[in-house]
Parts: sequence; structure tokens; C-alpha cells
Amino acid sequence: MSKRCDLPSLWSHEPQVELMFRPGDQVSDIDAESTPGFRGKKADAPTLQEERNVRFAELQEMLYANSRSGDTRSVLLVLQGMDTAGKGGIVKHVVGSANPQGITYTSFGKPTTDELSHHYLWRIRKALPTAGHIGVFDRSHYEDVLIVRVHNLVPPAVWEPRYDEINAFERELVDGGTTLVKVAMFVSLDEQKKRLAQRLERPDKYWKYNPGDVDERLKWPLYQQAYQAMLDRTSTDYAPWHVVPSNRKWYSRLAVTELLIEAMKRLNMSWPPPDFDVATEKKRLASA
Ligand code: AMP
Ligand code: MG
Repeated sequence: MSKRCDLPSLWSHEPQVELMFRPGDQVSDIDAESTPGFRGKKADAPTLQEERNVRFAELQEMLYANSRSGDTRSVLLVLQGMDTAGKGGIVKHVVGSANPQGITYTSFGKPTTDELSHHYLWRIRKALPTAGHIGVFDRSHYEDVLIVRVHNLVPPAVWEPRYDEINAFERELVDGGTTLVKVAMFVSLDEQKKRLAQRLERPDKYWKYNPGDVDERLKWPLYQQAYQAMLDRTSTDYAPWHVVPSNRKWYSRLAVTELLIEAMKRLNMSWPPPDFDVATEKKRLASA
């Protein structure tokens, strides 16, 4: 089956191509409402999401199964985006469809004192997926060139070299058998306001609200610049960024699911062969 064949026909273009960041692409041109490459409608999303979650879960199980027979490869999903962009929704509605046994989830918040006493990649390295696992980073080492840059948490002379350092770090990961799927989720300023307002209306959403989110909104232009620099400087051929318009949650979830499926298909996996003789085992079992 060709790569294209597996993609549902509701996609007119392959998301991994359509959404890939290209040199010169401008963050200010991103239309967060748009649904690039998708020709279906919102009403198509629930059924399609369910179907593709099954496919995703199957590939994830295959990755895990292969690690049992010595395959050391892994996948790392890096999710970046402003508050309310929908990172948590990807974790819940996409990654959540797979067997938790093979998932390593880490959310990176404000570093602890202990973490701050180490190099910024220290906590990242500790959270990397082991053989057969899909690692999910809800925020990541990129915070060290995003919030850190926007808030001058360290001087430019410190954050500036981090872009190259991150590229070298990711090269090392890829050479070690980890496939990176880097996803930058973009919501519009208006949509973010709506989503934050909803959090304030619902007691079951208060836990997601942080008064500091409003302060970050005020720094939106600085964040746009920081995201632009991140994309310009750390989208590499071995670990490219994908820009996912995220005002429509149903779209961003479908898109990230396809990015994950495609990344795993590129691993050319099959079910591991038995390390025993099946016929013999059947006979033995029958008389056991
Ligand atoms: P949330 O993901 O909503 O729980 O928020 C986590 C907060 O921690 C966000 O405001 C992040 O920007 C912040 N954060 C994550 N990593 C870092 C970092 N390395 N330095 C400073 N703040 C960070
Ligand atoms: Mg938050």
C-alpha cells in the first residue's frame, strides 16, 4: 500500500507536506481558522477521528511489539502552542486512544529550583522515550527559547546559542533512532480570549485557568516573534516543524493524528515474527 493510499480521501493534500514549515513562512500569515489540506467538514470529523485513532493505536502497538524483539526506535511528539491552543486536547483525544503502556507523557511547566540548577536540557533528557515508546512533550525544551526569551528570564547571550544547541540535540536524538514529530499549534488572539472566558465560566475548567495567562496575552506580539525565530531556526530536514492552525479543534486533532500515523508508517514496521515454532506450539498447547 502506498503512503498516499492510507490517507483518507477527505484529505486533498498530505498534512505532513501541507503543514510543514518552510523557510520564509511567516507566523503573521497563519490563518488559525483555516483547515489546510482537508476537504471534509466538521460533521465528518468524529467518525474520521475514531477511525484514524484505531490506525494510530495499531501502529503504536506495532512499535511497542517490535521493541520486545530488539527494535530500539521510538517516536517523540513535541507540542508547542500558546495557552488554550489545544495541546491537552491532542493528548486526551489523539494520544489517549493508544495503549498507555507504550506512551511516556511529560508536561513541562515552570522549572523547579532543582531543574534550574541544571542545564535546561537536563529535564528534557530524563523524559525522552525509551525503545518502542511514543514520548509526548506537552511544552518542551522550546520553552527555553519562547517564554524565556519573551520574559528575559536569561540574557540574550544565553538564549541565543540555544537554537543551534537544540538542533544538535535533536540531531543526536534522530541519529539514536527517535523520530521527532514537532507540532506548533496556533490559535488566534480572539479565539484564545473565548477559550479563556469559557474556563472562567465553568467550575470544571477553573483548574486550567491561570491568572498569568492574561499577562502572556499582553505579550502576544513578542510571542509571535519568538515563535517565528523558533520556526526559522529549528525547522530542520531531520526534525521539521509542522504548523497546525488550531481554532478548530476537530481539525487540529485530525491533522496531528495524520502526522503521527505518517511518521510511524515511515518506520516501515511489520509485526515481529515469532521466536518459536507456531505449529509445534499449537500441538503442545492442544495436549497440555
Ligand atoms: P501550563 O502548560 O498551562 O501548565 O503552563 C506551564 C507554564 O510553564 C507556561 O506558562 C510555560 O510557559 C511555563 N514554562 C514551561 N517551561 C518553562 C521554562 N523552561 N522556563 C520558564 N517557564 C516555563
Ligand atoms: Mg495554562
